[in-house]
Amino acid sequence: MKCEKFFESFMSLEDYSSLPLRLKIHLRSCPDCRKEASLFRDSMLELQSSNSFDLEISMGAVIMSEVDSLPSSQPGGKLTILKWVSVGLIIFVSTFLVTYSKSYLWLEQIYGAKLIVPMSLVLGFVLSIYFIFVMGANYREFARGVSNLRFFKKLNLK
Ligand SMILES: [Zn+2]
Repeated sequence: MKCEKFFESFMSLEDYSSLPLRLKIHLRSCPDCRKEASLFRDSMLELQSSNSFDLEISMGAVIMSEVDSLPSSQPGGKLTILKWVSVGLIIFVSTFLVTYSKSYLWLEQIYGAKLIVPMSLVLGFVLSIYFIFVMGANYREFARGVSNLRFFKKLNLK
């Protein structure tokens, strides 16, 4: 058996503690492979016996406890909403400002005044998508806000 062939079969082994006969025969005759194989087997056994997995678990626990101890997002809730609203406002204002932009004026020269309709549709669509995102991301805050409204409080009393 050639050394290459030997290592090919040696690497595909599941269990290094007991070698097939044909590999043992090659090991007896080839000192180079014997040295390489024993080095490889030792490092594999060392890897298996080391408790790297336990370390991983405890690290995960440490990280999770750190995450749990972080202040919840509740105090920052209003600030987050403010951010979302200001970005939405920027989009909304820019839908009007875009008609004064150079590229819009350039497009208007080509397509004429009709351009305003598809442009408004697209920007309105973008704004709607953004609004859906806001609702999705801040669902809890919105639900709390709605239930705090007087109208809904009255409904709940009945
Ligand atoms: Zn060999």
